[in-house]
Amino acid sequence: MTRKQRERSFPKGYNPNRNEYLYWYTREGYIIAQDILCQYEFVDRAQCPECGGKLRVVAHLNRDGQGLSEMVSLCTACGHNVNVIFDISNEIYQEWLAEQLGPMYVPPFEEEPRTPYSPD
Ligand SMILES: [Zn+2]
Repeated sequence: MTRKQRERSFPKGYNPNRNEYLYWYTREGYIIAQDILCQYEFVDRAQCPECGGKLRVVAHLNRDGQGLSEMVSLCTACGHNVNVIFDISNEIYQEWLAEQLGPMYVPPFEEEPRTPYSPD
């Protein structure tokens, strides 16, 4: 199987180079994201802190100048608002993004990538 064929068999937005640090926290308290899809998956699996209901993403705020991606979500049961902030400054995400964008890729920020700090 060629690399291209392998990539085509993954869902859109999925990074085949995801590693064990997916969903770890950075020192700043952001959640490590390694592609776009994992951010939706995270919210999909999360529960409303108020009532335990399912969350639904209503907006995806691009904060890539800060190396961040924010998912605005609402509880489908009680309407409680939960914003989940992901780190996208990490190398796994940025390498994946660069591969998606090819020559259009511009590194989004000047600072050092954040690193995994704690699994919970
Ligand atoms: Zn709720």
